[in-house]
Amino acid sequence: MLKATNSLQSSFILLAQVFEKLEKETSRLRMMEILADYFENISPEDVKIAIYLLSGKTGPSFEAVDFGVGEKFVIESLLRIYGGFKVEIEDMYKELGDLGLVAKNIVKDKQSSLSLNEVFNYLKTIALTSGPSSQDKKIELLTEMLDRASSLEALYIVRIILGRLRLGAQDATVIEALSFARVKSKDLKPKIERCYNLTSDLGYVAYMLFKEGEEALDFVHAIVGNPIRMALAERMENPEEIFNKLGKCIVEPKYDGFRCQVHKIGDKVKIYSRNLEDNTHMFPEIVESTIKYCRAKNCIFEGEAISFDPKTLRFMPFQITVQRKRKHNILKVAAKFPLRLEVFDLLYKDDLDITSKPLFERKRLLNDTILKNDTIVISDSSEADSPERIKSLFEKYVSEGMEGIMIKRLDGVYQAGSRNFNWIKLKRSMKQSILSDTIDAVIMGYFYGKGQRIKLGIGSLLIGLYNPEMDCFETIAKLGSGFTEEEWVELLKNLEEIRTSFKPNNYISKINPDFWVKPKIVVEVEADEITVSPVHTVGRKELGNDSLNTLSSGSGFALRFPRAKRIRYDKSPFDSTTPNEIFEMFEISKNKKSKNVSENSVN
Ligand code: ATP
Repeated sequence: MLKATNSLQSSFILLAQVFEKLEKETSRLRMMEILADYFENISPEDVKIAIYLLSGKTGPSFEAVDFGVGEKFVIESLLRIYGGFKVEIEDMYKELGDLGLVAKNIVKDKQSSLSLNEVFNYLKTIALTSGPSSQDKKIELLTEMLDRASSLEALYIVRIILGRLRLGAQDATVIEALSFARVKSKDLKPKIERCYNLTSDLGYVAYMLFKEGEEALDFVHAIVGNPIRMALAERMENPEEIFNKLGKCIVEPKYDGFRCQVHKIGDKVKIYSRNLEDNTHMFPEIVESTIKYCRAKNCIFEGEAISFDPKTLRFMPFQITVQRKRKHNILKVAAKFPLRLEVFDLLYKDDLDITSKPLFERKRLLNDTILKNDTIVISDSSEADSPERIKSLFEKYVSEGMEGIMIKRLDGVYQAGSRNFNWIKLKRSMKQSILSDTIDAVIMGYFYGKGQRIKLGIGSLLIGLYNPEMDCFETIAKLGSGFTEEEWVELLKNLEEIRTSFKPNNYISKINPDFWVKPKIVVEVEADEITVSPVHTVGRKELGNDSLNTLSSGSGFALRFPRAKRIRYDKSPFDSTTPNEIFEMFEISKNKKSKNVSENSVN
């Protein structure tokens, strides 16, 4: 590998070569090694930039980037370099199916003069250029950059700018690579993860690590304005078990709306979703009330936003709340279905990260922070000192139409980005069915319709789960029911936008659908049961298969009679239910089944 000295700016070609290697690689371990080798040999500033560019961005992943450059602009820019006829470029595009490859062919291979920092600045400037004549300016900048690039660099510049970089290296791989680059082992992984969970900015964390050393990571804390990766709940089946686990605890109703993390930064407000997307535009009344009723210079609090009927004051079903998920006419929807934020946690106040304070303390601070008002309301919360009390609160809230309850460890810290027993969910559905919860799965591909569905052009989906340990997606079911005809039509439109002509290299599947799609859309699925099947690949490790590299090895988990419940717009594919959770649900349902059998045989 070409080496760059630490003190100098590295060339962009080094990163382009890394991209090329990653693209060809399917082994996660090799990907990690390629990245570690690269990080080790560049400056802290360049590590930061490289991390942003690895995900096709010019900043942390929660910041939306829009280069405002479509295919037409790229073709125009290539035309200026090529000097031939537009139709020739268009023909090349038809043949190759990728404007990146067209750029690679057109741009003469030469010694590149572009540094990583220069490419980054070009991209940032292109994204920030707006106003009249911005189109020309963007094309000029792109042409200038491509003119200086080697053919390999041109390939990736075009893919970045069109949002079509597909490398398959996810955060988990990058985090491990950072650790290896520094200490030749995974030892720094927990520290890096902690900082990443608090700041959601891996570039910043890497910069701190490489510039200031690993001790600096101990001082990294949440940053108001950067979403904190959200704490998640474990599942348990009954109040006795929960009480044994937590002892005296806090019980709250489980609202069925949108999780919102509200950041007050002086007189500005930002609201992030479960998925760390900026959803501020969806909740104008929360923005207004935060400014009016929040007694803090800056702070971060969390709650569930849920619509209610202004006449009856009763909460509305999720299908109504989800109407906020639109770009236009929000005020109209807000007037028809006002919304309330049930706030349950405070994570930051007046320049202090309080995520490591115990829950009861955060609750106390929360009570002092939000003045009484009708939009931002501190959620119901009761202490429970017996399983009976947990049970009676569960029954009370379910009878009031809630999804269930959340039971929280009284002295638990806010464990950013982690699912553990500091929070436990007990849902209504867990009581009634064999399966303890719904499953959030990623759409990996789809099949043509058969029979009645033939006219729709879609009959079923291949769905799977993200495996964070292996950094790949594994299949769990074919899903063909639960959506209405209109929903299938709408879904097909969205799937066509993310269709790929090849199987993504981080998909582990024994089934070939008619079309593969990029991992983007998450669907919540109900099923009768989790079974073991030789056809699917999720959970092969949990089922005791060690040789995961060969597809033929071992059985995985599958869903019996899966039905779609809804599309989870608030979840990213990396937030799907994990293989480990499926294993836990499989175990819970096994116990439940054998309990039912023995109860029936006694009766
Ligand atoms: P998860 O967020 O755990 O991956 P999920 O998104 O599928 O799972 P659930 O399993 O239904 O959601 O439960 C967790 C969610 O419940 C939280 O993410 C939050 O949006 C919501 N919620 C409702 N009420 C509360 C509460 N009182 N405390 C914490 N979360 C709550």
